[in-house]
Amino acid sequence: MVVLVTGSSGQLGQSLQHIAPNYPGIQFIFCSSSDLDITNSSQCQTVFKKHQPQYCINAAAYTAVDKAETEPDKAHAINVTGVKNIAEGCKIYNTVLLHISTDFVFDGTKSTPYNESDLPNPTGVYGKTKLEGELAVKQTWDKYYIVRTSWVYSPFGHNFMKTMLRLASERDSISVVNDQIGTPTHAVDLANALVQIILTDNRQPTTNNFGIYHFSNEGQCSWYDFAKKIFEINKININLQSIPTSSFPTPAKRPSYSVLEKSKIKAFLELEIKDWEESLKTVTL
Ligand code: NDP
Repeated sequence: MVVLVTGSSGQLGQSLQHIAPNYPGIQFIFCSSSDLDITNSSQCQTVFKKHQPQYCINAAAYTAVDKAETEPDKAHAINVTGVKNIAEGCKIYNTVLLHISTDFVFDGTKSTPYNESDLPNPTGVYGKTKLEGELAVKQTWDKYYIVRTSWVYSPFGHNFMKTMLRLASERDSISVVNDQIGTPTHAVDLANALVQIILTDNRQPTTNNFGIYHFSNEGQCSWYDFAKKIFEINKININLQSIPTSSFPTPAKRPSYSVLEKSKIKAFLELEIKDWEESLKTVTL
C-alpha cells in the first residue's frame, strides 16, 4: 500500500516518519515542501501520477496563527488552494485523502466539548482558511477523512512545549494564559491514529466511513496548566505566572474553549487514547 505524505518536515510529517518503520506493510512516500509545493497544481499532478497512492495524508499547512492575520493570501494559498490541488490529485487517482484541520475552526463559545456536527465559526484568518480548506475537500472529492486536532506538540519543529523549554533557559519567570482551555495533542499519537484510519478503511473498502472526525489526547487544560506540566516533567524550577488573555494580546483572537469530543473516532477505530499528561511524559527531546 502506498501512502503519500505532504508537508513531511513539519511536526506531523516528522512524527509520521518516526512511526513509519512500525508499519512495514505501508510504503510511505514523504514529500517536504521542496519536493512538493501543494500550491503548485501541476507539481501535485506529477507527484500523484508518479506514485498513484492509495492514501494521501495532507500534513502540509500554513500554521502561523498570528502571522496569518497579516499574510491572509499566503495562508489561503496553502490552506485552501493547496488543499484543493491535493484533493483534485486524489480524485484523479482514486486516492483516499486524510486531511488535517483544527479546533480553531470553532469560536470557543461552548463550554462542553465540540463534536463534529457543531457549527464552525472561526475567529481568525488561520481558522477561516482551515475551514475553507475543509470545504474545498468536501466540494472536490468524496473519499476523505478530515481529522480536526488541537494544540499539537512533538519533539519536532516548532510548538508550545519547545517554546516553553527555550524560554525557561533564557528567563527567570514566564507568564502564560489560564483562560483558554483545550487539549494538547502529541503529534506521534495523531500520526498513529491516522495510520489506524488507513488500516481500518483498507479493511472495509466497501463501507463508507468518510467524513469529519475529532482527535486529540484525552483530558483538558489551560495553556498555563500545560506549561506547568512541561516544567514539572522536565524538572525545571521557574517562576510561572498565570495571566488572563486580556494581559497577553495577540494579533489573532483564539477560542477560549476548544476541547474536541472524540466519541466518533473512538467508535470507528476502537482506539485507546492517552491522557494528555501521560503522553507528554513520553516525549524525549
Ligand atoms: P507544521 O507547521 O509543523 O508543518 C507544516 C508543514 O507544511 C511544514 O513542514 C511546511 O513546510 C509545510 N508546508 C507549508 N507550505 C507548504 C506548501 N506550499 N507545500 C507543501 N508543504 C508546505 O504543522 P503541524 O505538523 O503542527 O500541523 C499539521 C496539521 O495539523 C496542519 O494541518 C495544522 O493546521 C493542523 N493543526 C496543527 C495544530 C498545531 O498546534 N500545530 C493544532 C491543530 C491543527 P516548511 O517546513 O518547508 O515550511
